[in-house]
Amino acid sequence: MKEILQDKNLAELETLVMEMGEKKYRAKQLYTGLMQGKKISDISDLSKAFKAKLLERFEDEPVRIIETFTSSDGTEKYLFSLADGNIIEGVFMRYKYGNTQCISTQVGCRMGCKFCASTLNGLIRNLTAGEILSEVLVVNALHGGTPEKRQVTNLVLMGSGEPLDNYDETIRFLRNVTAEGGICISARNISLSTCGIVPKIYELANEGIPLNLTISLHNTKDEERMRTMPVAKAYKIEEILKACAYYFEKTGRRYIFEYSLIAGENCDERHAEELIALLKGRPCHVNLIRLNEVKERDLKSTTEKAAYRFLGLLEKGGLSATLRRQIGSDIGGACGQLRAGYLSTKPVE
Ligand code: SAH
Repeated sequence: MKEILQDKNLAELETLVMEMGEKKYRAKQLYTGLMQGKKISDISDLSKAFKAKLLERFEDEPVRIIETFTSSDGTEKYLFSLADGNIIEGVFMRYKYGNTQCISTQVGCRMGCKFCASTLNGLIRNLTAGEILSEVLVVNALHGGTPEKRQVTNLVLMGSGEPLDNYDETIRFLRNVTAEGGICISARNISLSTCGIVPKIYELANEGIPLNLTISLHNTKDEERMRTMPVAKAYKIEEILKACAYYFEKTGRRYIFEYSLIAGENCDERHAEELIALLKGRPCHVNLIRLNEVKERDLKSTTEKAAYRFLGLLEKGGLSATLRRQIGSDIGGACGQLRAGYLSTKPVE
């Protein structure tokens, strides 16, 4: 695979174009074109000769949409092809306050959570910062957005992969996607979700990027959490809560716990009580979601009624909590399921 030009920020592009014997201002033209989601070959204000030279070294189209699935509620899911033929997926959701894109940070994942489709084949590879950014650039362009008038206004790092397991590229992506003069999505509109890699949460808190930290909790006791989340063997809930407190201290940002309701696993009345005991008084919010069933796994979702009952118990106990509606469920339930389905019907090149 060639290099990814979208990995570079404006200052790095300036160095590059000058090294290539071009005038410095060409970097701005190049950067503007890339931020508009264009292929290098489609940036019209650069000379053919310069573009040809760039294309010897850099991928013209690091991320390409190969399939779009549209839900009756307006949600869109995409299969993206990467330059090396790997496939990732993404989601575009419309809300009253703007449009949220769910992005992937790795091809596959090595965390092994039992309920998650992204981990079925393990980790294939990390995405580079520029590939992650390109997911956003192409979807923004697809919807007629520009860097000045964005169609993608919010991001959630909740696609395939564990962002803190691809730490350096994820941070580089976050710096570039929030940079002034670029697509410039505010860090406050970005949520990073992690299964709870404690040392990396501390590092993230020290980066000075005021994003929304989201933790996949999914249980109240370490021994039970280990059954569905192998990472729980390495980091205890207690340590996660300490890291979250540090995150709040450093950034002033409330944090969010994701809690997927799995029948018979984590949503009895006892779990509600334990969750209240763990989280009460902390500056946090609990996002409940009914499990999206993954056909390769035998975990089952709880009923809608039981989910509302669980929500009611949390609220009564003084927690701030919501039950997320399952959007786009008519176009491939669980995250990661689309890709898994695609790979099982098409040979990987
Ligand atoms: N690796 C990150 C991002 C993963 S996906 C993390 O672990 O947080 C984002 C959220 O979806 C996580 O909270 C994850 O636990 C949850 N999730 C994964 N598979 C799910 C499924 N089948 N049903 C409901 N939620 C799921």
